[in-house]
Amino acid sequence: MTMATRTESDWVNWHQLGCRPSHIAEPRSLAELRTVLREAAGRGSRVLVVGTGHSYNDLSLTSETLVTLKYLDRVEHIDVDQGLIRVQGGARLAELCTVLAGHHLAFAVLGDTAGQTIAGAISTGTHGTGLTKHSLSGQVAALQLMLADGSLREVSAESDPDLFQAARCSLGALGVVTAVTIRVVPAFTLCRVDRKVSTEEGLALVGDPPEIDHFKVWFLPYTDTAVTSSARSFPVSSPARPRTAQRLRESFLINGLMSAAGAVARQWPRGVPAMNRGMANLPMNSTVIDRSDRIFVLPISIMHDTFEYAVPLEHGRAAVQAMLDAIDSTRPPLALPCEVRFQPAEQGWLDPHYDQPSVCVGAAWHRGVDVSAFVRRVEEACRDLGGRPHWAKPHSLAAPDLAPLYPMWNRFQALRASLDPTGLFGSTAIDRYLGTNTSTREIPNS
Ligand SMILES: Cc1cc2nc3c(=O)[nH]c(=O)nc-3n(C[C@H](O)[C@H](O)[C@H](O)COP(=O)(O)OP(=O)(O)OC[C@H]3O[C@@H](n4cnc5c(N)ncnc54)[C@H](O)[C@@H]3O)c2cc1C
Repeated sequence: MTMATRTESDWVNWHQLGCRPSHIAEPRSLAELRTVLREAAGRGSRVLVVGTGHSYNDLSLTSETLVTLKYLDRVEHIDVDQGLIRVQGGARLAELCTVLAGHHLAFAVLGDTAGQTIAGAISTGTHGTGLTKHSLSGQVAALQLMLADGSLREVSAESDPDLFQAARCSLGALGVVTAVTIRVVPAFTLCRVDRKVSTEEGLALVGDPPEIDHFKVWFLPYTDTAVTSSARSFPVSSPARPRTAQRLRESFLINGLMSAAGAVARQWPRGVPAMNRGMANLPMNSTVIDRSDRIFVLPISIMHDTFEYAVPLEHGRAAVQAMLDAIDSTRPPLALPCEVRFQPAEQGWLDPHYDQPSVCVGAAWHRGVDVSAFVRRVEEACRDLGGRPHWAKPHSLAAPDLAPLYPMWNRFQALRASLDPTGLFGSTAIDRYLGTNTSTREIPNS
């Protein structure tokens, strides 16, 4: 056993979901990682490489060999002129934001948190919002992959277009993403304006989203209230207003108020509609200006669960309407607002936004409340509208359901079989979502 491997200890992800891998490996070099892979293969154990375990489902859980790149987190190169940064796969987005700011650079877009690793974030198609703002995976210029046989591949759209499009969002099923070269932009300031509107106005904006850099709509269940969130970018020299009071307010709203709401949702679910109507009376209009990453990231610390489907843009309004109808008919104790975002078409073969600009229809709820009937209903509606689930958020689809949604599924599986013929990379979750290396290769695309 390598120095980097320990046996039979627990691994707990961000959501406090745990597993007991047979081995946990924390390699400190590519040579150690290669040894970890060789030893796992020798034991007949499959390898799951994880980031910080921010995925809401079981993607980062395994009973076999779990590898984290927590010690492979260095910045390898920054090219300010070209707007490129090359980092090791275990680097966390939050730390990278600070490094980039030091070079007057920034990520063009981030999601609601920056706690993830760069490799973990791209591997599930993590996105922010904005019809011209590509996901993190969409910003990748090149990848370094360690394959099952321990060899390293430097992959870009020019050097190996197929592997590049397959690997940029691949759930760890093709190999270990050991380094990522990602496009970055000159540092910028974001001015975010939140405005309370009616549900009908919110729906109309989902159907015809404005041309704003980063636009999203929150719908508050059981009320006639939605909040539009419009963030525009400015050169970094724009004056920033003092943010202390706003940060406190945001943190109070998201964590203080929402955790109190969670207690109600868990103990008195039927009180949620009245509580939400009360919350809808709170002042919600605000304007905040700050460094881009501080606006993108929400200070979320409450335990919650979520789902999200990427529905073709033209069906976005219908999908959100179906979600609101499902709230009315199934009466789930949803005390958190439903987040609706926008994404351009992506090129990664397994990106949920592959080849289709999408509306990302999501809902979130407090841990421990029962929303199963609601989720079933919305999933059905989103599937009927051609939606694809977020890889990192719970959904009921398995490989046979997912294959027809992805035109490049069979080519992905063929590459997977050729790069990893013994099925070294995998887990129970990967089997469910992507099938085993042999069983799903022949599933026909629709
Ligand atoms: C509070 C919160 C907010 C979030 N906000 C958003 C959001 O706004 N938008 C959005 O799209 N998602 C969002 N997510 C989901 C999150 O971005 C994804 O779950 C992301 O994949 C987590 O990255 P991670 O580093 O924790 O990876 P993990 O969850 O540990 O792993 C995710 C997947 O990546 C693979 N992987 C990890 N590292 C590697 C590697 N080095 N090589 C190959 N494969 C690897 C794993 O095998 C696994 O399949 C949010 C999650 C949380 C908890």
